[in-house]
Amino acid sequence: MADPTYDLVVIGAGPGGYVAAIRAAQLGMTVGVVDSRERLGGTCLNIGCIPSKALLQSSHLYAETRHGLAAHGITAQGVTFDLAAMMARKDKVVDANTKGVAFLFKKHKIAHIRGTARIAAAGSVEVTDTAGAKQTVAATRILIATGSTPAGLPGIDFDEQRIVSSTGALTLASVPKRLVVIGAGYIGLELGSVWARLGAEVTVVEFQGRILPGVDTEVATLAQRLFVRQGLSFRLSTKVTSAKAGKTDVTLSLEPAAGGAAETVTADVVLVAVGRKPNTADLGLEALGVERDAKGFIVVNNAFATNVQGIYAIGDCVAGPMLAHKASEDGVACVETIAGRVGHVDYNTVPGVVYTWPEIAAVGRTEQSLKDEGIEYSVGKFPFTATPRARANGYTEGFVKILADKRTDRVLGVHIIGAEAGTLIHEAVLAMEFGGSAEDIARTCHAHPTLAEAMKEAALDAAGRVIHL
Ligand code: FAD
Ligand code: NAD
Repeated sequence: MADPTYDLVVIGAGPGGYVAAIRAAQLGMTVGVVDSRERLGGTCLNIGCIPSKALLQSSHLYAETRHGLAAHGITAQGVTFDLAAMMARKDKVVDANTKGVAFLFKKHKIAHIRGTARIAAAGSVEVTDTAGAKQTVAATRILIATGSTPAGLPGIDFDEQRIVSSTGALTLASVPKRLVVIGAGYIGLELGSVWARLGAEVTVVEFQGRILPGVDTEVATLAQRLFVRQGLSFRLSTKVTSAKAGKTDVTLSLEPAAGGAAETVTADVVLVAVGRKPNTADLGLEALGVERDAKGFIVVNNAFATNVQGIYAIGDCVAGPMLAHKASEDGVACVETIAGRVGHVDYNTVPGVVYTWPEIAAVGRTEQSLKDEGIEYSVGKFPFTATPRARANGYTEGFVKILADKRTDRVLGVHIIGAEAGTLIHEAVLAMEFGGSAEDIARTCHAHPTLAEAMKEAALDAAGRVIHL
């Protein structure tokens, strides 16, 4: 048998694949990474986390300048924006980040193999480049990190002009007058916020009777109220049964989720944001006998190994939250285990953040899931209205909620809605990683005046001894 070219070939250069590749190189493996995109970084850096956050930041600054400065005694007149410049800035941010990954690949001597991969056999990856030329790359182990793509709706086809996925919604050439967003999840609310701030009339149609299914109910209820105040409107318990793009607009048919009379709505652009599906269809997995579940996710054990020896899978193409940091954690744990170390991911401490204004962040259990399992818990809650720094900043909307085991006081879940929630949540993540209690957080000195004091006060509240309320 010929010597393998690489110890590890990774398919997919997203936050799962590229981080796994770097860690594998650090552990002494020779690594090649195949990706069909021109630039490294996968969905996250090219058409996901990073461009969306760049647009969220630009549109937030615009909205703040228009509506948030007056309270500070600052007058700003004639505030306008240049969408092309905003998009160009976003592209520059993406470019810098992807180049950063290319630099890291060079530093760690990781080969970037451009092309579309198919696994011909365990240990053999066939790569087809953009010109159609094929090469076979040999490897001792293969790691599938092919990520995911937008899930569509039956009969509603993406043209990325009028009926768009997140990819099209990140590159619109002008602000649509009327934007209908299908799905009140992460993408619907983040990108709906971007375009609402820039002047679009945004209607979010959601199948469930609430926004952000899976997020703490109290948090989601407040979030919806705040989004409505920002100009978004919601059609809950509603399904879109068809969307037909015309020359100048899109005609949608809406029905109550439970069935009933249909109504017609027109929009200039429709964003379909109803979830994502794993990229596992064209990899040759069926012929190899690699097991997938009913939704197409690759089935792996706790070492990220598939049922076929030498083939592993991580990130969005396996079950679990479809988040960049989860993909990276999977990748590191996978290659550390391959290298004979102990790799492990605690999925209970993977935080989730919605980068709207205000931000929404959570880690661990929700009240609903604890109730469903009959686990007794105590609740500590503290509003930002009572947090001096939040008042000084003018960011008083929202609260911190801590759920702790009634018997042991161990922190089981933390939910935050408010400015910087996505940063604040990490105190809770760390406490939970260390098996900490609400009392541990309560007894930890927090600098004054900071938004983090709300975390300490919520922890004090869990013990019935909140100070500032
Ligand atoms: P991906 O990033 O999808 O990378 C997979 C790569 O594999 C891609 O480059 C793909 O082209 C390549 N590939 C696929 N098949 C093949 C093949 N056969 N041959 C060669 N290459 C192949 N997550 C967060 O945590 N925070 C956020 O703020 C966030 N924002 C998001 C915003 C948007 C608009 C979207 C769409 C997603 C967002 N996500 C966010 C989710 C995040 O992007 C994904 O969870 C993450 O990218 C998954 O990483 P991955 O490495 O598993 O796959
Ligand atoms: P999502 O799962 O977050 O939300 C989809 C929403 O669409 C849900 O509320 C669901 O009930 C609704 N829905 C499903 N079918 C529907 C239908 N037929 N009609 C109306 N509503 C329907 O999915 P997403 O927003 O597309 O995002 C995909 C994934 O990408 C997310 O789950 C997340 O993992 C990741 N993401 C993360 C971030 C972040 O971390 N900030 C940002 C964007 C995307």
